[in-house]
Amino acid sequence: MERLIVLGTGNAQAIHCYNTCYAMQKGDEYFLVDAGGGNGILSALDKAKIPLENIHNIFVTHAHNDHILGMVWMVRLIATSMNKGNYEGTLTIYCHKELVDTIKTLTKLTIGKKFYQHFDERIIFHVVEHGDTVKILGDSFTFFDIESTKEKQFGYTCLMDNGLKLSFPGDEPYRESLYDFVKGSDWLLHEAFCVYGEREIFKPYEKHHTTVKEACETAESLSIPNLVLWHTEDKDVAHRQEKYLKEGKAYYSGNLLIPEDQDIIEF
Ligand SMILES: [Zn+2]
Repeated sequence: MERLIVLGTGNAQAIHCYNTCYAMQKGDEYFLVDAGGGNGILSALDKAKIPLENIHNIFVTHAHNDHILGMVWMVRLIATSMNKGNYEGTLTIYCHKELVDTIKTLTKLTIGKKFYQHFDERIIFHVVEHGDTVKILGDSFTFFDIESTKEKQFGYTCLMDNGLKLSFPGDEPYRESLYDFVKGSDWLLHEAFCVYGEREIFKPYEKHHTTVKEACETAESLSIPNLVLWHTEDKDVAHRQEKYLKEGKAYYSGNLLIPEDQDIIEF
C-alpha cells in the first residue's frame, strides 16, 4: 500500500467526527476497512475523492453498528454503479463467517432487490478464518480473531510489497495472544477511547476499550516505531490531537499519530 486515508476517527457514539474507518490506497485502487455507522461513509469517500468504482475490496471487522451499517450504503451505491454499467468486475467483502449473514440480512431488510441481487455474483463474500493469508492489491494480509469477549471480531496484519508490516487489531486493545501476528510491525493502528487522565469521565474499560497511555505502553513494549490512535471520544475534537499527543509522548518514544478525519498517512 502507498498511503492510508483516514475516513473516520470517532468511537461508536461520535457525532463530531465519523466512526473509525479507513481506506488504503495502491495506485488507483482502494481497500476499505470498515464503513462506519451510516451514509456518512459516502460523504467521507466523496471528501477524500475516492470513487466507488475504484473500491473492489472491503474488510469488515465485526457486527457493531459503528462499523457495519455503512456497508448497506456501500452495497447500495456500488450496486447502483453496477446497474448503470459504470462498475467493472466484482466487489469482494472479506469478513468472518457470521458476518456474511449479518451483512446480507441488514441489506435485504433495508434496500431493494435491484441492489442486493448482486450478492454472490458480483458482490462476493470471502470468509476469512483465523490465520488465513490473502493477497489484496498485491499486499499480503493475514487475518486473525482478536478473541473479543464482546462480539466476534477479526483484525489483520499486512505485509506490504515495500517490506513494511502494519497491524490492526480492530477496535479493542492488543492482546498478548496476538503477539505472533503483530511482532515486528512497523505500524500499529490501535484504538484509544480517551486519555488516561480522563478515564473516570469516559470509562473506557467497561466498554472493552483503552486509553492513550496504555496503547502507547503497548507499542513501546512491542518496539513498534509508528503508532496511530483512533476510535476516540469526541467531546473536544479541536483539542484532541494536542491533548492525546501530550499524554502519549510521555509513554511512547516512536512516531505517534493522532489523526483527524480525512488525514492521509504516507507509507
Ligand atoms: Zn467500534
